[in-house]
Amino acid sequence: MTENIGVFVAWPYANGDLHCGHVAGVYLPADIFARYHRLRANRVLMVSGSDSHGTPITVKAEQEGTTPRQVFERYHARFLESLRDLGVSFDLFTHTDTENHWAVSQDIFRVLWEKNYIFRKAMRQLYCEKDAMFLPDRFVEGTCPHCGYDGARGDQCERCGKLLDSFEVVEPRCKLCGTQPVIRDTEHFFLDLPAFNEELLAWVQKQTHWRPNVSSFTINYLHEGLQPRPVSRDITWGITVPVEGFEQKRIYVWFEAVIGYLAASIEWAKNHRQPDAWEDWWKGPEGKGYYFIGKDNIPFHAIIWPAQRWGTVG
Ligand SMILES: [Zn+2]
Ligand SMILES: [Zn+2]
Repeated sequence: MTENIGVFVAWPYANGDLHCGHVAGVYLPADIFARYHRLRANRVLMVSGSDSHGTPITVKAEQEGTTPRQVFERYHARFLESLRDLGVSFDLFTHTDTENHWAVSQDIFRVLWEKNYIFRKAMRQLYCEKDAMFLPDRFVEGTCPHCGYDGARGDQCERCGKLLDSFEVVEPRCKLCGTQPVIRDTEHFFLDLPAFNEELLAWVQKQTHWRPNVSSFTINYLHEGLQPRPVSRDITWGITVPVEGFEQKRIYVWFEAVIGYLAASIEWAKNHRQPDAWEDWWKGPEGKGYYFIGKDNIPFHAIIWPAQRWGTVG
C-alpha cells in the first residue's frame, strides 16, 4: 500500500554557512530516507528552509553594518547552492520570510490566542534610551555574577557557560552603544505549555518507534513540568504579532520556525496548483511525518510543535 511519507528536515539558521556536521547529522540521512521511500513507490514530501528571523541574525547584521534581510538572503542563497551541489533531493527548500509562512504562523498564533492557549502578561525588561529599544538578552553585556568575566552576554556567560538572564548581569551595558540600560515595563504573550503537560506525557509514552534518547529526554522534561514560554519580543525583525494594538511586537523565532514544516508543505502544494494536496501528509491516518533534527531541537519538535498543533485543532 502506498504511504504518504513526510520528510521534515531541521531548518538551518541563516547566519552562517552549512558545514559537514549539518550534512552528516541531518541532510544526508534525510535524503537517504526519502530516496528509499520513493523507490518503494511511496509518496514522499521532503521540505525544509532557512530560518530567517531572530536576534542572532540582527546581531550579525549589526556587526557587519548591514541589514538582517541582507544577512539572511545571502546565507539562504548559499544554502540553496550547497544543497543543490550535494544533490539533496528536497521537494521544496524555502525560508521563513515568505508571505505564505507569515500567514500560516500568524493564523496559528491567532487561533491559540482566541482559545486562550496564549495569554498576555506584564513583565520588566532592560531598555536602551539611546537606541530607543528594549534589549533582547543577547543585546546586553556586562560582568558575569558567577565568574566575574566582563564580556558576559545577557543570555549566557561564554567563559563559565552558565545560563543568565539580563537582570543577573552586573553593570549591564547595551551591546549596540555601550550605555547603561534602564528597567522598563512591557507586556508579552506567553504560550500556556502547562495546559498540554499531561496529554503530552501520555502521548510521548505511547511512541514506541521514537529514538530512545528522544523519548527519555522528552519524558524527563515533561516530568519536571512545563512552564509558560514567551512567544513575543520587542524587536523589529520578524513576523508581527497578529493582535490589534501589538503589531509592533514580533513573534518569537522558535514559535514560528517549527511551523515551517506545515507552511512549506502548503507552499509546495500551491506551487503545484493543488492547494489542498498538503493535507495528504498532515491530515488523516495515511500521512506519516518523520523529523530529522539535531539534539538541541528535541523540545521544540517533541513538545512545543505537538502542543501548537493540538491547541490549534482541538
Ligand atoms: Zn561566568
Ligand atoms: Zn544602546
